[in-house]
Amino acid sequence: MQKQTPTYRGRFAPSPTGPLHKGSLVAAMASYLEAKKNNGQWLVRMEDVDELRNVKGAADSILRSLEAFGFEWDENILYQTARKDAYIEALATLKSQHQVYPCTCSRKSLKEKARLGKIRNGQFGLIYPGYCKNKHFSNFKPDEYAIRIKTPDKNYSFNDELLGHNTQNLKTDLGDFIIRRRDGLFAYQLAVVVDDAYQNISHIVRGADLLDSTSRQLFLQQSLNYSQPHYAHFPLIVHKNGDKLSKQTGATGIGDIADIQLLVECLEFLGQKPPAELVQESLADFWQWALENWQLSLSKTPRVS
Ligand code: GLU
Ligand code: ZN
Repeated sequence: MQKQTPTYRGRFAPSPTGPLHKGSLVAAMASYLEAKKNNGQWLVRMEDVDELRNVKGAADSILRSLEAFGFEWDENILYQTARKDAYIEALATLKSQHQVYPCTCSRKSLKEKARLGKIRNGQFGLIYPGYCKNKHFSNFKPDEYAIRIKTPDKNYSFNDELLGHNTQNLKTDLGDFIIRRRDGLFAYQLAVVVDDAYQNISHIVRGADLLDSTSRQLFLQQSLNYSQPHYAHFPLIVHKNGDKLSKQTGATGIGDIADIQLLVECLEFLGQKPPAELVQESLADFWQWALENWQLSLSKTPRVS
């Protein structure tokens, strides 16, 4: 009998810019528990697409930490550096749809041309005004331009399982964005969409720092004729002193000896209510409790520690 593909396929997609820290452990845990609770598969994808930011040894160190902390992933790890052909193909599709153009603006000239717009959650950023949108690829060498995609004047909306209804007009709120940089590297927005589709990811659970990227990803999914995954963004944890969670274990990382106390803290950050005794238990008992009691909906409210 043919093995049926489970309907739930989740993933954890760290960028190997450093070791696994507490913030990324929370993201791994939320996506893992939600996948397992739904009898789904959980994949790990190494998002090493931005080769200039990769730190030597970080990918292996992240995987060692995950393993030591008891995570079990399905299938082989997918490395984005091995996926260039797929990104080139996606770009060719977008090119054939006349959706992309070469942008030869320098950083300095962009500052002068771009207008300030509301980009995310009340924050302001520069909106590229489409200055190069009539330029032709044939007039330039590939290292003379970044590739931008024309954003439609249209609202992209989705219902986030934790944060509710979200909407963004890509043209007025964000502007045409880069999908391949001038240095030849593909942008995260394109890579993540191509790979989520390739890996048949049905559910994405990740931190709210990526909420603002979601409408760009919906737009790319539609352009490339991919199906749209279901999204849940958990609120980020902010410390009383304003530090992000990643700072605590930032440079050194969480290491590769399972620390049950740390796992329990992550569960608590995700709104779960583990009993005090859980810190004394074994790694297997920790995961058993976590799986039996996991409720994603409890992760809704941001916590301050
Ligand atoms: N690689 C991204 C990061 O580490 C996560 C991408 C995602 O979950 O969509 O921030
Ligand atoms: Zn330009």
